[in-house]
Amino acid sequence: MSDTLPAPAGTLADLIDLLQGRRLTVLTGAGVSTDSGIPDYRGPDSPPRNPMTFQQFTGDERFRRHYWARNHVGWRHVHRTQPNAGHRALAQMEREGTLLGVITQNVDLLHEQAGSRNVIDLHGRYDRVVCLSCRTVVSRSELADRLDQLNPGFADEVVADVEIAPDADAVVERTSHFVVADCAVCGGMLKPDIVYFGETVPRERVERAYAMVDAADALLVAGSSLTVQSGLRFVRHAAQTGTPVAIVNRGVTRGDRYATVTLHAGTSETLSALADSL
Ligand SMILES: [Zn+2]
Repeated sequence: MSDTLPAPAGTLADLIDLLQGRRLTVLTGAGVSTDSGIPDYRGPDSPPRNPMTFQQFTGDERFRRHYWARNHVGWRHVHRTQPNAGHRALAQMEREGTLLGVITQNVDLLHEQAGSRNVIDLHGRYDRVVCLSCRTVVSRSELADRLDQLNPGFADEVVADVEIAPDADAVVERTSHFVVADCAVCGGMLKPDIVYFGETVPRERVERAYAMVDAADALLVAGSSLTVQSGLRFVRHAAQTGTPVAIVNRGVTRGDRYATVTLHAGTSETLSALADSL
């Protein structure tokens, strides 16, 4: 760990100065998707929330049933969300050659939807489900059909009282009768193909992300407070290998001490400004 103090928050002009003429890799977090209507539970104005852990999911049948009931409602909301100006700006920068690619901590696929091609979905994707026994992967929409058959009318009944979370949760009160689907191949336990707390990101994915950071002239962090190690490690790696780091986030982050420039601002407007300036 470096014990240097973080640089004071800079301006958009500082950010453009630093990034001008450099090929970027971008690391994005929940803040990039808030303008698409997906709340950031770690943002400065966000309610405290205990994220579910992998151990809770696998170890507690009641909890798992509750999770799937909520997810069965919530994933449809994520499915309907649209990319915002920030996502579109990054896709534009990739087309123009100023951006190598995106490493995202989001599971909402909005970068892909906006037209980004070189995207590493670090924490997985909401539209896939994996069997923990035989590793068969099925699409979330296929599972939705099965869950609808097992729980007729459920999603429609509860949709009026929905609060959406970044991992496609939706608050549902009555979940005790929800019927969970098992793997159609082996009967094993199904889990969204999302990295939960208590799980590690697959090594191959981490290696690809390091390679994308190494290939860039600068690392730009957008909309992440870098609370979890899985994202912070790329910032530390960049700083240690002499790659400048810039951070755009509405609040302070755990990575500020590694950054050359930090900008406290929203990502939609900042990334749009960067796409116009770089
Ligand atoms: Zn299976």
